[in-house]
Amino acid sequence: MAKYRCTVCNYVFSEEKEGKKFSDLPEEWVCPICGAPKTSFVLLAEKTDAQQAKKEGKTVSDVLIEQVAEWGVRYVFGVPGTSTLGVVDAVRKNDKVMYIQVRHEEVAAFMASAYGKLTGNVAACLSVSGPGTTNLATGLYDASMDNSPVLVLSGMVARQYIGPGSIQELDQHSFFEPICVFNKTLMSEDQTTMLGTLAVKTALLDRGVSNIGIPNDVQKLPYDTQIRPFEDRMPNLAFGSEDYIIEEAAQVVNSAERPVIVAGFGCRGQGTKLLGLAKRISAPIVTTFRAKGVVNEQDAFCAGCHGGLGSTAAGELVHKSDLLIVVDSSFSDLTLLPQKRTVQIDINMKNIAKKYPVEVGLLGNSAILLPKLTAKVQEKNNQDYLNEIAHLKENWNRQIAKEADATAKPIRAPYIMKVLQDKVASGAVFSLDVGENCWWFGRNFQMKKTQKIVMSGLLASMGFGLPGALAAALAYPDKQIICVTGDGGFTQVMGDFATALKYQLPIKVFIINNKHLGMIMQEQKMEGYQITQTELHEYNFALFAENAGGVGIKVTEPSQLEAAVDQALAATKATIVDIDTDPRRFI
Ligand code: FE
Repeated sequence: MAKYRCTVCNYVFSEEKEGKKFSDLPEEWVCPICGAPKTSFVLLAEKTDAQQAKKEGKTVSDVLIEQVAEWGVRYVFGVPGTSTLGVVDAVRKNDKVMYIQVRHEEVAAFMASAYGKLTGNVAACLSVSGPGTTNLATGLYDASMDNSPVLVLSGMVARQYIGPGSIQELDQHSFFEPICVFNKTLMSEDQTTMLGTLAVKTALLDRGVSNIGIPNDVQKLPYDTQIRPFEDRMPNLAFGSEDYIIEEAAQVVNSAERPVIVAGFGCRGQGTKLLGLAKRISAPIVTTFRAKGVVNEQDAFCAGCHGGLGSTAAGELVHKSDLLIVVDSSFSDLTLLPQKRTVQIDINMKNIAKKYPVEVGLLGNSAILLPKLTAKVQEKNNQDYLNEIAHLKENWNRQIAKEADATAKPIRAPYIMKVLQDKVASGAVFSLDVGENCWWFGRNFQMKKTQKIVMSGLLASMGFGLPGALAAALAYPDKQIICVTGDGGFTQVMGDFATALKYQLPIKVFIINNKHLGMIMQEQKMEGYQITQTELHEYNFALFAENAGGVGIKVTEPSQLEAAVDQALAATKATIVDIDTDPRRFI
């Protein structure tokens, strides 16, 4: 008997209480509290009795791992070392948690960040004291800036050396302090379950990184105690503003002639509800780049992404709008939203009116507020506006079709996006790197229903693509996992292609190999600098993949691309498709 948590509101579905298996529920089943789709649920605990069977010789590490597993942690990513031996062994002994050994801690942190963004669930990364800890920094800052819940289990030197100093000892508390929403050191055994639960709880509620530092000697202390269950220890987040404020918002919406709904990453899983509002008021939906795919981009009401790499349709609709209905978007500079009359929905009160004043701010969970607002607004059938949206979408589609030149050599990035769009499965998960690969994907790839992406949003860190794909492959073992990366970003983390092979994760890595740090080269051009230090050494990633034991496919001619994509998607092993690509953005 298992329990599942709704990642939107924290409702717990207990198979024992309900008398049925979660897996037997129909696909269209939704959370009875917040209406989130079944896909928003994650496995919490597999036993209804939180107290594990007593085992001889239990340690603090065993109890800590049991505790975080009870709260839904399924994976620990890391590199084992001297100061984590106790915790690593506790993971080995616990059949609910899987240790994934990576080659560099940065990859472990990126994986945990990506896992949190994709699933809304917490994964852990585990590092040794000193260099293992500092190697986590970039991935943890990525999680922190993109509000991804992550747990760090950081090994520390034994207590008597904290302060006096030792090999691999540094001031870890101070190191973690600016990154974390929760940062504590486990100093005695009776703190174990309390710190374990508070760390996961804070990561989920404050949507950030929690660190538990565990001194080497504490890890090995004999200890056993009652595990604290998740239920009754977490607030349900199915809340929203009072009805009179929703009524005010509805009146503002009713008064608008050209409303546009702007959907941010926070409303993942709310696609159906967003479309419900859009249809009722005849309004288009534009998304932020990170929210790409929250709504099926091929739906008539979706006008694509807004921002620097957004569609002309989204840009024009937002420009001419007389009201923005902004849902779960943090108004980042990347989204380039102008100041307009605004109704804003956000679960984080600090995001309301963050950049510009808003006419009505609705504080709460969009899963609750979207249907309430939809029920209160007047129904409109603005056919002229709908025709205009369709016309703008057609123009944009014609533009990106024109850019996808199937004959140009070197191969044009827009053509690669077109071939991927035509061939990748409708349920696929994409992990994007940062650079030209990401720019072209955001601009030219149109996501189908149920496809997902994960990326390094605000930190915009190169090297995210491969770790994101590894995390996606673990979270969604039955789905096609596609990494879209560049020769620059991939090279930063390519040692962990070995991790895909070791754990038999059949990810498909498409390298937009333009032999440049292409985006920076563009900036040098645009700012009138000479092109310098952005050229990369020619590297054959297909040979690298073959040599490592995976599948490698080199594409030099545009006519080879379709067959190469077919071959990669059919491969049962981790695969790299290395595509010689034109580094120029526009010709
Ligand atoms: Fe829910």
